[in-house]
Amino acid sequence: MNKPHISFEFFPPQTPEGVEKLTAARKLLATLNPEFFSVTFGAGGSTQERTMETIQRIHQEGYQAAPHLSCVGSTRENIRALLFAYKDIGIKRIVALRGDLPSGMASIGEFQYANELVAFIRAETGAHFHIEVAAYPEFHPQANSAREDMLNFKRKVDAGANSAITQYFYNADAYFRFVEESRKLGITAPIVPGIMPIMKYSQLARFSDMCGAEIPRWMRKTMEGFGDDTDSVQSFGRDVVTQLCEKLIAGGAPGLHFYTLNQANASLEILNRLGYK
Ligand code: FAD
Repeated sequence: MNKPHISFEFFPPQTPEGVEKLTAARKLLATLNPEFFSVTFGAGGSTQERTMETIQRIHQEGYQAAPHLSCVGSTRENIRALLFAYKDIGIKRIVALRGDLPSGMASIGEFQYANELVAFIRAETGAHFHIEVAAYPEFHPQANSAREDMLNFKRKVDAGANSAITQYFYNADAYFRFVEESRKLGITAPIVPGIMPIMKYSQLARFSDMCGAEIPRWMRKTMEGFGDDTDSVQSFGRDVVTQLCEKLIAGGAPGLHFYTLNQANASLEILNRLGYK
C-alpha cells in the first residue's frame, strides 16, 4: 500500500512528569519518520509558554515542530510577537486557527476568524511559514450551512494557507465528499485527514459532542456494550481506525495527522498495521 506522510499532534504538558512522558512518546513515534510534530495552543493564550517550550524541545531534538496558533481573544501585537519568536528559533510551519473563546473571557480580541489570522501571518512574514488550517468534513458546529462552511474554508486558503488538517471523523465518505466539493470550488491545497485513535469511549463521546464530530451509531452502540472493559474498546477502536485509514489511503489521502493525546501506543499500533515501521 502507498504510504502518505504522517504527522502527530500533542498538547503541551502541564507537569514535569507530563514532559517526561511526552518525550518518551515522541521518541517512539519518531521511529516512524513523521513529517512534523504539532503542539496545540490554548485559545486565549492559556498555554502560550508551554506551547513554546514544547515546540523548542521538539525543534532542538532535530524534528520539524509546528506550533498551533489560535487568534481568538488575542491582539495583533501579541500574535506578531509570537510569530517572530517562532521565526527566530527556526520554525517553518504553523497551524493557524481561530480557537474558541474560553468561558469568562469577555473580548474576542482583534481577529474574528482564522482567515484573518492567515492573512496577517502572510502580511507579517511573507512566505516564511507553511500555514496549515483546520477543515471540517462534517462541518463546523457553528456553521450556518454546509455551503457557507465550505466557502469559509476557501477564504482561509485564498488568504494564503498551504494545506489543511481535518477535524477527526469516522466516516470516510464525509472526507471524500469534502475533498470533492473543495476541488469544485477551485481549492487545490492538500487536505490531510485528522485521525483520532480510540482510547476511552466516555472521553471520545464528550470530545465529539463538543467539536461536532460524529461517532456513527453502530460504533457508539458497540462501545457502550463494552462498558468498563477498556481493552475491548481499544481493540475495537484499533480495528475500526486502521480500516478507516486504509480506506483514506486507498482513496488518495495525501497524509494522516494523528491526534495522539500524548500517547504513542494507539497511533503506533495502527500505523504498524498499515505498514509504517
Ligand atoms: P474558522 O475557520 O474561523 O471558522 C470558525 C467558524 O466561523 C466556522 O463555523 C466558519 O464557517 C465560520 N467562519 C469562518 N470564517 C468566517 C467569515 N469570514 N465570516 C463568517 N463566518 C466565518 N483549538 C484551539 O484552541 N487550539 C488548538 O491548538 C486547536 N487545534 C486544532 C487543530 C485542528 C487540526 C482542528 C481541526 C481544530 C483545532 N482546534 C484548536 C479547534 C478550533 O480552534 C475550533 O474548531 C474553532 O471553533 C474553529 O477554529 P477554525 O480555525 O476552524 O475557525
